[in-house]
Amino acid sequence: MYNADVVIVGAGPVGCVLANKLSTELNLSCLIIDKRNHIAGNCYDEKNKKGVLYHKYGPHYLRFKNNKIFEYLSNFTEWIPGDYIVKSSIDKKLYPFPINLDTIENFFNVKFKSKNEAIKFINKKKVKIKNPKNSEDFILSKLGYEIYEKFYKNYTIKQWGISPKKLSSNIAGRVPIRFNRNPYYVNEKLKFMPKKGFTKMFEKMISNKKISLSLNTDFFKIRKKIKYNKFLIYTGAPDKFFNYRYGKLNWRSLDFKFKTFKKKYIQKSVQYNYPNDYKFTRKVEIKHVTKQNTPYTVISKEYPKSKGDPYYPIINNENLIKFNKYKKLIDEIENQNIFFEGRLAQYKYFNTDEVIERALNLYKKIKKIKVNIKN
Ligand code: UDP
Repeated sequence: MYNADVVIVGAGPVGCVLANKLSTELNLSCLIIDKRNHIAGNCYDEKNKKGVLYHKYGPHYLRFKNNKIFEYLSNFTEWIPGDYIVKSSIDKKLYPFPINLDTIENFFNVKFKSKNEAIKFINKKKVKIKNPKNSEDFILSKLGYEIYEKFYKNYTIKQWGISPKKLSSNIAGRVPIRFNRNPYYVNEKLKFMPKKGFTKMFEKMISNKKISLSLNTDFFKIRKKIKYNKFLIYTGAPDKFFNYRYGKLNWRSLDFKFKTFKKKYIQKSVQYNYPNDYKFTRKVEIKHVTKQNTPYTVISKEYPKSKGDPYYPIINNENLIKFNKYKKLIDEIENQNIFFEGRLAQYKYFNTDEVIERALNLYKKIKKIKVNIKN
């Protein structure tokens, strides 16, 4: 039997945060199950045979929109600064990415005396599109054809397997566009990496004795054996939970190819994007952000694919209509004290800090319900 006050499906950030709060603050027994052989979900990092810490499911550049989330995580880890610098490789030349003044100057071979001059230059390139709703129109309306064609178009097609015209503007819109020389990948001022890695941070988060963990355990194989006294928290894909009642949701998945080198560093910065060359989208040398002191380094290449574990929801109208049907079921099932949270369960392109914030908010909601449940 899989029995506890709270059963949590998925040992990723959402599952770990809720287990932590429910066990330490409400003294509830929590059982976390996960079909993988490790905790931390896609934030999982580990040391390879040569002792190099690497991100198994792609780079996680942790940053915080909300200071409170940073404070909460600080209970479980020390930090190192998160200096995430990305370059885009266009015609064999590396450019700063996100697009900034240096990118525009180098790409068009111009030199601006002021920010305004650069804005005027780009204004002439912009395509006039009222209310851009998809990723192609969004970038064309902000930066014009040349930059769109070289930096965005093919990267997006490779990453998502569909035309940027069929993707919400929020997807390409995730990456800032700058008329200054800020080289960092994200805009947030609070950007830090857990000093010993994500896995260690989440291990500490779930170290309370009231929490038990069952790895290599597929929810769908043991579903009937689960008994939760109070709550079930589900962080997986909703379509599977509801037996695909409204059909399959579309997801994008990735393959990673890792290679270890006996070299201090291979790249100049953590990430090189390859919009127009190769089958992979980007090469990541995570050591630039883990800042590990070791004679070895690991490079990972990311190959997008449509089959495999769900990594990214594909946000467009068609998929959102389908998800919204599932969303109704998700809202209804709260009556049975079953809660859906996280990137998969909510079918939203959340960042790590955002899912942690959502998990903390869900905790507050559950706490109110708990007060009303008599033992
Ligand atoms: N993107 C692009 N060119 C790039 C990097 C990103 O066109 O060099 C677009 C692409 O559509 C991508 C989206 O911006 O899916 C978001 O990129 P981000 O780096 O935030 O993706 P993640 O790190 O979440 O995979």
